[in-house]
Amino acid sequence: MAANPARTPTPSTYDVERVRRDFPILSTTVNGHPLVYLDSAASAQRPLQVLRAVEDYETHSHANVHRGVHALSQAATAAYEGARERVRRFINAGSTREIIFTRGTTEAINLVAQAWARNRLHAGDEILITALEHHANIVPWQMVCEQTGCTLKVAPINRRGELEFEAFLKLLGPRTRLVAVAHVSNALGTILPVERIVAAAHAAGALVLIDGAQAVPHARVDVRALGADFYTFSGHKLYAPTGIGVLYGRQELLTAMPPWQGGGDMILTVSFEKSTYNDLPWKFEAGTPNMSGAVGLAAAMDYIESLGIDAIAAHEAHLLELATAALTNIPGIELIGTAAHKAAVLSFTMKGVHAHDLGTILDSQGVAVRTGHHCAMPVMTFFGVPATARASFGCYNTEGEVAALVSALRKAREVFG
Ligand code: PMP
Repeated sequence: MAANPARTPTPSTYDVERVRRDFPILSTTVNGHPLVYLDSAASAQRPLQVLRAVEDYETHSHANVHRGVHALSQAATAAYEGARERVRRFINAGSTREIIFTRGTTEAINLVAQAWARNRLHAGDEILITALEHHANIVPWQMVCEQTGCTLKVAPINRRGELEFEAFLKLLGPRTRLVAVAHVSNALGTILPVERIVAAAHAAGALVLIDGAQAVPHARVDVRALGADFYTFSGHKLYAPTGIGVLYGRQELLTAMPPWQGGGDMILTVSFEKSTYNDLPWKFEAGTPNMSGAVGLAAAMDYIESLGIDAIAAHEAHLLELATAALTNIPGIELIGTAAHKAAVLSFTMKGVHAHDLGTILDSQGVAVRTGHHCAMPVMTFFGVPATARASFGCYNTEGEVAALVSALRKAREVFG
């Protein structure tokens, strides 16, 4: 993951205008202005390479997977299972058995909550999360607590939006069975020290789930080097279609877990007396999967690697540095989330203006930012704000777009006085 972005130079070889030509939607105009899309943390746009891969699959290779002997079914199966191998390589998992396709991060975390935690945890056991988690990494654990009687513990953050590591260590103990943390906070941009978290959790005998939804688009992720037990992410934040995501789990853990949904494809045999379950990874993929989504995800990974994930990260870090400096100079703007290590997310408030009103004024100038609680209500409560505006950068954003954001914010300042 990028080091302190403030010290990261612009990569001179990164041709952002060429990248932009791959994304037709970026030529849209909004309210008479060129679109300035600063909402990739919510959902990134897709390049032609992904759109064409999906179209090609739908046009030439679609049929149901796994069950057919006919040519198209075999083509669809090859495309789907080929995508699984592509994902394995992208995150350097040891085996495709460890790659479970899901609808997204949310479903992946719920899978672990229901198939692992619900079956293993009891009253007295603890799950440890942090105060900056997305609701998707809070609520599934609260449901498990209701189901099993185990307890949810929350490690605090400081006013910069960084994990209080000493306090985290104090909460980690012999009762901790699982540590579930974001790799990167979607509301604050904070990059968490996941290597240290994994080492400490394992030393305490706990497993670790990392919610990588906001990390995978911005940094090289190697699940084996990280030592994560579970790692989750969504395709649509990675320039791929919606409705496809990934749960990586260590094979030994997944093998010991029972299936969480029953139906077609996850079985070997079915009789009214007893059914037996399929091998990994299909044991966790009941029903017809999202084949075109998986194909799109594989194409997005090819695309990212063709640009170079390190080059993307350096480009985004440069934009973050520019935007941070510029916003700091606008009267009444307060940055929410000023961690030393951040990814390309900039949350802020404008004094006296509700984030939604600010978002509307920005939209009238073509600038798309997200406003609200960003599915992280406890973070908003911690900072004492109902909502923030959030600009987030992707591989296609430019210095000119940072300038457009700044000028739109200055105009908003005039409008609201
Ligand atoms: N975790 C984080 C950190 C996120 O940013 C998001 C999406 N905003 C999610 C989980 C949930 O992802 P999805 O809605 O794609 O399941």
